[in-house]
Order: sequence, then structure tokens, then C-alpha cells
Amino acid sequence: MEPEPVLTTDISHSLKTDVGFDDLNLSDVMLAALESAGYEYPTPIQAGLIPRVLEGVDVVGQARTGTGKTAAFAIPILERLLSRKKVQSPQAIILTPTRELAVQVRDEVVKLAKGRKADCVALYGGKPIRGQIEKLRAHPQIVVGTPGRVIDHLSRRTLDLSDLRFVVLDEADRMLDIGFRPDIEKILRQCPSERQTLLLSATVPPPIARLAQRYMRDPESLDFSPAEMTVDTIEQFYYTVDPERKFDLLVRLLKREKPQQALVFCRTKRGSEKIYRRLSKLTQHVACLNGDMEQNKRDRVMSEFRAGQTRVLVATDIVGRGIDVSGISHIINYDMPQFSDDYVHRVGRTGRMGREGVAYSFVMPEEGKELTRIEQRINRLLKRDEMPGFDFTRPATIDTAAPQTPEEEPPPPPPSLGGRKKKYRRAL
Ligand code: AMP
Repeated sequence: MEPEPVLTTDISHSLKTDVGFDDLNLSDVMLAALESAGYEYPTPIQAGLIPRVLEGVDVVGQARTGTGKTAAFAIPILERLLSRKKVQSPQAIILTPTRELAVQVRDEVVKLAKGRKADCVALYGGKPIRGQIEKLRAHPQIVVGTPGRVIDHLSRRTLDLSDLRFVVLDEADRMLDIGFRPDIEKILRQCPSERQTLLLSATVPPPIARLAQRYMRDPESLDFSPAEMTVDTIEQFYYTVDPERKFDLLVRLLKREKPQQALVFCRTKRGSEKIYRRLSKLTQHVACLNGDMEQNKRDRVMSEFRAGQTRVLVATDIVGRGIDVSGISHIINYDMPQFSDDYVHRVGRTGRMGREGVAYSFVMPEEGKELTRIEQRINRLLKRDEMPGFDFTRPATIDTAAPQTPEEEPPPPPPSLGGRKKKYRRAL
């Protein structure tokens, strides 16, 4: 039997609520931390979730990133932590699907813990386990981690969950999508039964509802998802373009749009590297992020992107999802996503916290069906955009004598002219 939602609220469209943080029974320390974080008003999910979590209720919250969901669970958990004198091992664990999200959540918790003695450690793969073990020895009250690495620590007995009071499953649908279900269940079985469990998910399909029913106590369902998952402020366009012309189109688009920061999505890791290499020959401040890269490199790329030092980040879906960087003004689907849900998640990386954003999708002539599926999914038609003077079908190399291969690198610039490189660098 599916769990019955006790209460369903839809308060999604405006990010600002009538409620103030002062109305939420928060401590002075927390109000000061919120002020220094620059948070003036609670977002709807915060106004809705914080009081229920403070009351000790288990909640299934339907919300995507960019709505303030991290603070929505981090604030009440921080408020309810017991002192370290009373409890030494972690009191809260937050499970996330990706390493990037683990780092992002940890950073948000640290920001909100300002002024109190609370430590938070991120446990994720790709980083030496030793450093994490050291940090765990210092008795952090909160741990954030990806399921695989958490299991690793549990089996080494370097993580003790016996005093746990809060469990958060963040982006639960994504965790199940990428096959973390057995790991999550293994972790949940090691958590004390007397605990509060929060589950955050963009969607609540039956497998999530079953997970909630099995591992949560009378969960209350709160729905903060907008009726249309991509926010209204995001303009969405497409081009029909031959594969040979995609790269030139990307260059033209970047030149025309001059994005504050752009996230370019490719379908494969190899594709992302190829585009990155070609683009970095033409312009600076470009980076690549995919699951093949070493974790240190991934962390560095993300922090540079977050700091605004990277203008164009070429990424694959696995790392693109969940990224929350307020400077992202443009999403470019260089390759169409395989699933329409991925489209929604990709496009949702811009227009964060009610800001404006724009998304462009490169649709190959035979991908009409994919485009239609996406349009049905978001219940809206994408606008076809113009690029005057650009030939969407002409092959990249005009020299007909030369053989044309689709992914050919552009020829090196003639030294005497300073080359295309320089020209584009100025132009982008
Ligand atoms: P999240 O949905 O948790 O990924 O949060 C999205 C972004 O909104 C993050 O950069 C947060 O730091 C920021 N944020 C969260 N709550 C608020 C708030 N009440 N006011 C302003 N910004 C916020």
C-alpha cells in the first residue's frame, strides 16, 4: 500500500512568502547566521518545512534544487542538535546522489552553523579516505555523504551511526535512478529506529513512496514543486542543426549572448572533453566536468565555476545535475538529453532563486521526436531561434577538396595573422 499523504501544499510559484524568519521560532544564533548569509525571507519550502521538522515530524518534501531546500532541512537540524558533551558521534546524516551535491550541502550547513559549535564533514568517493577518517575522529555532529562512501566508512567502523537522530535523503529520486537503493537501505537499517527522517525529491514515483513507507514514521507529504517544473523565468529556445555545424553554432551563440556563465551539456564524457578542448583553443575561462575526472580536479573545477572564474563549463548530466551556481545565465544543450526529465534538470540549473535564465537546445534533424517529448514533458513549446547569416546545414569545412569528418578539429591558425584563436578570444 502506498503511504497516504497527510497534507499536500502547493506554494511554489512565488519564492517569497509572507512569513519571516522571525516567525519560525528560531534561535538568535540562527537568525544572526541567516542575516550574515544574506537570507532575508524564508522561501516557501523553508516556511513550510522548518516548523514541521522542529516539531519532529517525518516529511517527504517534493522540491527541486534552487528552491532553498538545503537550508529548509539544515536550519531545523542545526537548531535541534544536542551539545557535544551529551552526544559524541554524528547526530545527523544527509545522503546525496553526487559528490558535488555533498560538497554543496556541506558548505550550506557550515554557512548556517555560523556562531555555534557544530561541525559538518563531507564523505564522498574519489578522495583519500584517510583525511575523512581524521575528520570523523574530531566528532562532527553532521555528516553529508554519497551512499557508497558512507557504506565504506561503516564497514571500516570509522563512522558510528548509533546516536543518529536525523536522516535526510536528498534528491532521493536521483539516488534511486543511479542505483543507490541497496546502499541506502543498508545505511537506513543501521540507523537507530528512534530518529527523524526527511526525504527530498523532485518527483515522488512509487519506488520513492515505497521507500518512505518502509523507512519513515507516518511521513507527511509536502509538495513544493511548481506545476511546471522549469520555472517561468527561463526562456527556452532551440535550433535545428546538423551535427557538423553544432560546434560553430556554439561559438556563434556564445559570441552573441556573452553569457555571465554558461553550462554546456554534452551526452558523453568523451563528447564533453572534445568540446572543451576545441573551445579552450578559442577562448579562455572554459572548463570541463565529467565523471571520469579525478575528484580533486572536479572539486577545483566546481569551486572555480562557483567563484565565477569559469565562464563556460562543459559538463555531462551526472555532474550537471544539482549544481547550484547563481551566476549561470545560459544553459546550452549541445547534445539533446536522453530523457526529458534530464532536460528539466539541466534547464533548472539557470533561473535559480527567481533569477532570469535562458536555455538553448541543439536539435539534430532526426531528433524531432525528442524535442516533442520534452515539449510534452514541460507542457510548453520551445521557440525556434534565429541566427542570421548562419547556415545550420552547411558542413564546417568549405574546402571541398579536403575530406570532411564531422568532429574534425579546426585547422591551426596561420601564425602571421595571430589566427582565429585571437579573433574568437576577443569576440567571446
Ligand atoms: P538549494 O535549493 O538548497 O540548492 O538553494 C539554492 C540557493 O539559494 C543556494 O545558493 C542557497 O544559498 C540560496 N538560499 C537558500 N535559502 C535562501 C533564502 N531564504 N534567501 C536567499 N537565498 C537563499
